[in-house]
Amino acid sequence: KDQAGQVPMDDNKRLLGGLLPQGMEKDSCLSRYQMALYRKRLQRKYPSSYLISRLRSYEATHKRCGPYTESYNRTLEYLKSGQYNSTSPTDCNYIVWISLSGLGNKMLTIASAFLYALLTNRVLLVDPGENIPDLFCEPFPEVSWLLPPDFPIIDKFDTFNLTSPDSYGNMLRHSVVSNSTVPPYVYLNLLHDLDDHDELFFCDQEQSLLHKVPWLILKSNNYFVPSLFLMQSFEEELNNLFPDEGSVFHFLGQYLFHPTNTVWGLITRFYEAYLARADEIIGIQVRIIGIVGKGPEPLKYVVDQIVGCARNENLLPEISEKKPIINPSKQHKTMKAVLITSLSAGYFETLRDMYWTHQTATGEIIEVYQPSHEENQHTENEMHNMKALAEINLLSLSDKLITSPWSTFGYVAQSLGGLRPWILVKSDNQTLTDPPCSRAASMDPCFHTPPNGNCREKNWVDKGKIVPHVQHCEDRSWGLKLV
Ligand code: GDP
Repeated sequence: KDQAGQVPMDDNKRLLGGLLPQGMEKDSCLSRYQMALYRKRLQRKYPSSYLISRLRSYEATHKRCGPYTESYNRTLEYLKSGQYNSTSPTDCNYIVWISLSGLGNKMLTIASAFLYALLTNRVLLVDPGENIPDLFCEPFPEVSWLLPPDFPIIDKFDTFNLTSPDSYGNMLRHSVVSNSTVPPYVYLNLLHDLDDHDELFFCDQEQSLLHKVPWLILKSNNYFVPSLFLMQSFEEELNNLFPDEGSVFHFLGQYLFHPTNTVWGLITRFYEAYLARADEIIGIQVRIIGIVGKGPEPLKYVVDQIVGCARNENLLPEISEKKPIINPSKQHKTMKAVLITSLSAGYFETLRDMYWTHQTATGEIIEVYQPSHEENQHTENEMHNMKALAEINLLSLSDKLITSPWSTFGYVAQSLGGLRPWILVKSDNQTLTDPPCSRAASMDPCFHTPPNGNCREKNWVDKGKIVPHVQHCEDRSWGLKLV
């Protein structure tokens, strides 16, 4: 700090306008302090001062309640004994995130669970799964966010599903939970298969009961934040935290997810070698998620979509069919780097060949790169996940971004980068649509399977029409997103 007690401007920028806490060790997590230098192209949005103050108070609570603290050990006793008397409330309550699904899904659900923890004064503990600690630095000062391996009911995690008697939905269905009978833990089934009882989680009345349960154990593969914005009990707090609603993951993602030094090496070496000198970086994320019974989209169809989108939206120049003119001019030519990410190499090869075998109509130089092509998803493999995280972050450093529909991998990249992407249109019959892509209304991710019902009311309401900042998603008409 300077003499006036002010944090110098530089540090403030590095700490993302106060989003990140001061004083954390630097060398063990370089990305925390260096990411801002790479995101300098970004037109920065600043977090609200209320969000900053809530994060600092969360950190204090985490320090007091985190693993192996006195409060943690005391609250753990209820789990061990299976007995809990809700008339003598605990001083710390928890939400435990269970690791599952691909990396994009994981990051979206951790952020959702963290926001829920902020709203309900809980402490977030993260199941390390196969390799969370290899991917992400600890986000909170001093006390770990990782669930300890000796957590009493850890062996039950695999068995939790829609039919578990421990799920909140089933407890409500069988009336085994009430204001006077509060269990020490409940399993929250917020997976894509959530049923009409599970989805009561999103109702104000049920929240007041959940509030009394010391341990919530969550399984989700969904960004459930948009539905929290439709709940009266959280409305005021959320307005204060995020006056700009469409930036929730942008801030929470940058706050929580700092790649470890190994992943940071993958990011920075690639960036410096291939992207740093470009005048503009165009990210293209290709994720082929087949529709059941249809099989994957053919390569040519996807390439045509990308090329059509890039042409319509002026993202990349057209190629010229004229004979190449050898232009010895030393004048600076605009250089655009195209960063493609995909499990397969075909899209990259086709685009690179297109710009190699033709000149561009504008004379711009187009470089095309792809960091890896892993062919198949291998969620259990450490280096596979590290590459995935590196690529998500590299995409987030683009100036403009084209993404694939329905992909959480793309959602994370766009929100971290503060980018409103052009999303390729998902066509039911794999014929080219006009236009081939549409601009997202905001950078925030889509909640793919929001609740259908209207809590205890019988009438149906269109959830995309209740408040202006919660709308249906561009790439999924029944999904919900913040704009
Ligand atoms: P989603 O399935 O598209 O919603 O995204 P997820 O990230 O949840 O799951 C897909 C997983 O497949 C990723 O986590 C990676 O393991 C892998 N994957 C998909 N696309 C890519 C890619 O472009 N690059 C790399 N390295 N891995 C990818």
